[in-house]
Amino acid sequence: MDLSIVVPIYNEAENLLVLHEGVTATLSRSVFSYELILVDDGSTDGSFPLLKKVAESDQRVKVIRLRRNFGQTAAMVAGFDAASGRIVVPMDGDLQNDPADIPHLLEKIDEGYDVVSGWRKDRVDTYLNRTLPSMLANLFISGMTGVKLHDYGCTLKAYRREVLDGINLYGEMHRFVPALASQVGAKVTEIPVRHHKRLHGKSKYGISRTMRVILDLMTVKFLLSYSTKPIQLFGKLGVYTLFASFLSGGATLYMKVFEHTSINRNPLFILTAFLLFMGVQFIVLGLLGELNARTYYEAQGKPIYVVKEKINLG
Ligand code: UDP
Ligand code: MG
Repeated sequence: MDLSIVVPIYNEAENLLVLHEGVTATLSRSVFSYELILVDDGSTDGSFPLLKKVAESDQRVKVIRLRRNFGQTAAMVAGFDAASGRIVVPMDGDLQNDPADIPHLLEKIDEGYDVVSGWRKDRVDTYLNRTLPSMLANLFISGMTGVKLHDYGCTLKAYRREVLDGINLYGEMHRFVPALASQVGAKVTEIPVRHHKRLHGKSKYGISRTMRVILDLMTVKFLLSYSTKPIQLFGKLGVYTLFASFLSGGATLYMKVFEHTSINRNPLFILTAFLLFMGVQFIVLGLLGELNARTYYEAQGKPIYVVKEKINLG
């Protein structure tokens, strides 16, 4: 199998037939063998019976039905786990992505890239609560992860199978796959893709997603930079805080000796105590993190490196 297209579906009944037609029209003419994996993420609008009908009429369509609504990331992972293609292409089920862009993504993969990210260059979502926050988030994510993409949020992307195998996703993290993949040495690029207005059904997200994305970004940044060395982050914070505590304590003593400011009336004294506690806490947190990192990597037999090729080694 060359290609697995993975589509999360949550209450998209009115879009399903057109989606299936679009994918079929683009791919049945191409030389690729493909499967279309539709993951019903606990829909309540009759999407599932429709999916069943589509699957009965077309053997290339495979359907997974989740027991309840687990969220877009979980639905996508369910599809990735079932995918047997050499290349995996996730896509939205609401017709906002265009299946006609898939061949362009595949061309880039053929050029040797491991991850090709879609970029909704002419995005048609409302500016103030979708496009603008997304633009800022993309700048921020690019800066934090070092993988510069215009549009992390676009679902339409293409991955080489191997890239997905080493990556575990939680929360809302499907958008961070390019950054996580780049961490293990994947070559990442992006190409502009079309974006259409949502004609049927409603968007499942509002402005509150921005907050969730930022929180997940913190996790991803931590995983990318410090998951094998938590003491380097927390220990550093601890040392700085202790240093600030000594400065503040020194100032308290100085004011006592030379300016006769009573220690118990000096707010700096309280600051000193706070910073001292915080500093010790940070360092202990770092040490606990180190213990956890060992459990995480050693219990699962996870290496802390990624090999690309081996020569004369079985
Ligand atoms: N989706 C899902 N589970 C959810 C929320 C969304 O499977 O809990 C699917 C949804 O059906 C769609 C895709 O994820 O195929 C993207 O959702 P949506 O179009 O609402 O996001 P937007 O385009 O507004 O960012
Ligand atoms: Mg959409």
